[in-house]
Amino acid sequence: MEIAVLAGDGIGPEIMEQALAVLDALKLPEVTLWHGDVGGAGYKKHGHPLPPETLEMAQQADAVLFGSVGDPDCDNLERHLRPEQAILGLRQALTLFANLRPATLFPGLEDLSALRPEVARQIDLLIVRELNGDVYFGEKGMRTLDDGRRQGYDFMSYAEDEVRRIAHIAFRAAQGRKGKLCSVDKANVLETSQLWRDVVVEVSAEYPDVELSHMYVDNAAMQLVRSPGQFDVVVTGNLFGDILSDQASMCVGSIGLLASASLGETQTAFGTKGLFEPIHGSAPDIAGQGKANPMAMILSLAMMLRHSFSLEEEAARIEAAVAKALADGVKGGDLGGSAGTAEIGAAVLERL
Ligand code: NAD
Repeated sequence: MEIAVLAGDGIGPEIMEQALAVLDALKLPEVTLWHGDVGGAGYKKHGHPLPPETLEMAQQADAVLFGSVGDPDCDNLERHLRPEQAILGLRQALTLFANLRPATLFPGLEDLSALRPEVARQIDLLIVRELNGDVYFGEKGMRTLDDGRRQGYDFMSYAEDEVRRIAHIAFRAAQGRKGKLCSVDKANVLETSQLWRDVVVEVSAEYPDVELSHMYVDNAAMQLVRSPGQFDVVVTGNLFGDILSDQASMCVGSIGLLASASLGETQTAFGTKGLFEPIHGSAPDIAGQGKANPMAMILSLAMMLRHSFSLEEEAARIEAAVAKALADGVKGGDLGGSAGTAEIGAAVLERL
């Protein structure tokens, strides 16, 4: 099992250290870690946010464990040299087209949710968002109409193979959870969505054990805050997923707890190759102070073990240890507590 470890900038290295301690404690056989520079660290050492040696390492590895990138020193660089470009470069090079974001409310954190505690308590869902298609990647531009008015346009489209491959990822994810998949679209108005719905239905024939439902995106936005407990896995396109995944994040509270996975089609000997990272950034305001909450990074490690190495039991053990630490009151500053990075890491390890 070869893992490219790209800690990145700001709090990235601090939280990565804690995640690697958790990985080490599992005593998995034959784990090899390759460490690479990325983001501002990549630029400062090698002149590029995604240096060729880092890219090659990511391409060779079975999975990429990613900290965070973003460095105020690099804010005035040309766009293609900015730290954040490293993520886009990796997604493109590894053809990562599926973004998985779990949103689970950990017991004891109900008060941090933007929802009422009795509603927040229900949240345990996974949003699977398509990343490479949709209106973000279609033909776009500005033009002047014959009557002189300016017009902006963005072409929305999905080809059936693009829908099929994300649908497979979502159905498989549902099989590993409660067996329910809700496909979100706007098929009452958009042809793109009608094709999306048709293809998802076709793919469902291969997953008779998964209960499939469909929901229009406007209703999904409403249901997500009204009764989130009805959702297990949600699959949707790039645009709708962008919005719904952020909405779901705020329903569970702190940014320091949210992990994510980006998966592609590459199957290794162990599972699906992917990149795993917290959704937060490099938090330059608290970097180097030992204050960052490493839980999102540790939960990203759990996602990596689940998806790229098919180690469901180990993944669940890590998630349970994090949940137990939170239930026992181990909270970082982002959760209104005072525990530091090392203390939180140690608390998770102890409960593992
Ligand atoms: P951010 O997520 O880094 O920070 C937002 C706020 O949340 C800050 O107050 C920060 O201290 C806090 N925070 C974030 N993670 C935390 C943690 N683990 N524990 C405790 N508190 C935490 O977002 P930002 O400030 O908008 O961006 C900072 C830099 O990160 C920018 O350069 C941005 O481009 C980059 N960024 C990178 C990624 C990524 O690597 N995937 C994602 C978002 C932003």
